[in-house]
Amino acid sequence: MAIPPHQLDKINSVQELFHKLDDEIKTFKSKTSLGCVNGCGRCCETPAVFVTVLEVLPLAYELWNNGQAPAILEKINSDRKGWCIFYESDPLVAGKGRCHVYPWRPLICRLFGYSAKKNKYEQPVLVTCQTMKDHCASEYDATVQKLSAGTLEAPSMQQYAMQVLNIDPSLGTEQLPINQAIATAIEKIGLLLREE
Ligand code: SF4
Repeated sequence: MAIPPHQLDKINSVQELFHKLDDEIKTFKSKTSLGCVNGCGRCCETPAVFVTVLEVLPLAYELWNNGQAPAILEKINSDRKGWCIFYESDPLVAGKGRCHVYPWRPLICRLFGYSAKKNKYEQPVLVTCQTMKDHCASEYDATVQKLSAGTLEAPSMQQYAMQVLNIDPSLGTEQLPINQAIATAIEKIGLLLREE
């Protein structure tokens, strides 16, 4: 499936940013030993996952390429739960589940637990969840201390948000509920494919 080259460049730029972030997170994890609880899906079990349309353009393009786009659009339109449409919760274990689009997941899904944002005093604050704090208590404490002492750097939420915006301000600024952003991205790619 073909879309105009400049649109494809945009998708590739987002994916390159994801790869850069993945490398940074790998380094951060190796320095801190922080890690999610195996199979934990608590951060997906909420309608409050907000992303930009730009971040899910690579996912939308993949969905058109593998023929799933129309069915996913339909699923989003009939969804009542509000959780990400690609999250499958484990029916037997509360809080566990899996992501069906892991390689294409947007920024927040990559950054959460492994990034920091500056507070009003310009101090880096680790962005994480209670589950990880409990699961990795000593690693969490050591990481917080190193961040505030300036001896460790974490991927920056604000910097990554800015880099997304710089790729395309019109699609990389507004944060939407994840399913709405995915539906919008699918529709946009669909239009581009029809124009070709
Ligand atoms: S894209 Fe994957 S990791 Fe992100 S909210 Fe959806 S299921 Fe969870």
